[in-house]
Amino acid sequence: MAGAYDLQKDLRNIQAPVIRFEQVTKEYQKGVHAINDITFSINKGEFVFIVGSSGSGKSTLIRLMLREILPTKGKVFVAGRELSRLRRHQISKYRRSIGVVFQDFRLLKDRNAYENVAFAQRVVETPPGDIKRNVPRMLSLVGLSEKYKAFPSELSGGEQQRVALARALINNPMILLADEPTGNLDPKNSQEIMHLLEEINRRGTTVVVVTHNHEIVDMMQKRVITLRNGRIISDEEKGGYVYAKY
Ligand code: ADP
Ligand code: MG
Repeated sequence: MAGAYDLQKDLRNIQAPVIRFEQVTKEYQKGVHAINDITFSINKGEFVFIVGSSGSGKSTLIRLMLREILPTKGKVFVAGRELSRLRRHQISKYRRSIGVVFQDFRLLKDRNAYENVAFAQRVVETPPGDIKRNVPRMLSLVGLSEKYKAFPSELSGGEQQRVALARALINNPMILLADEPTGNLDPKNSQEIMHLLEEINRRGTTVVVVTHNHEIVDMMQKRVITLRNGRIISDEEKGGYVYAKY
């Protein structure tokens, strides 16, 4: 398909950063800056935390990366493509090429764990034989092999987030975005989800995690971008949760 949009292929080939923000500003209302003149890059294979207090602009960054919203000023590039230039029919395909998990899991309540994960493959028309092979493998990676028949209401928060993670990863995205993935979890489950994200990153996926969780950020020793009032106030390799210092 000449000219067809293929993020995965772009990502395999690119030299450019996987994600780049260039002087990005987002105003939901005129004069109110949710994001204020932000510039940064994330390279292929990185694991990055985005931290900052409530209202500092973290979710807005994620929504810009997903192209749910457009910048008021500036440019967002993913795999070297400027997202505002994607055509309408390319946008849903673009979004499906990125794995996403949220604080509230967002599982289909009337489907069991297996079906929630399989659904993501059906949407992209994966052949049934492949789905039957892939889904158990992914549920096993997140430690849920035994619970594949369970519905979300029969799973703990930690288990539901594992299903959400399996669903986010089943189509082999090159990027995983997680907005407060441990926000509803206890410390033990939070740590386990983080170790899973680390494992996924080790396998080559670029991982961006928004979090409030100081202990986890300090424990993981990854790059940390700190936001305050829509601006980056620090960006450190192997950082800790520095917000408290400011
Ligand atoms: P965080 O995720 O760090 O808590 P957000 O990105 O959600 O922060 O919000 C940043 C700022 O933008 C906040 O002041 C918030 O009130 C505002 N904001 C977020 N979403 C909207 C929206 N849809 N409409 C208007 N203002 C919004
Ligand atoms: Mg948020």
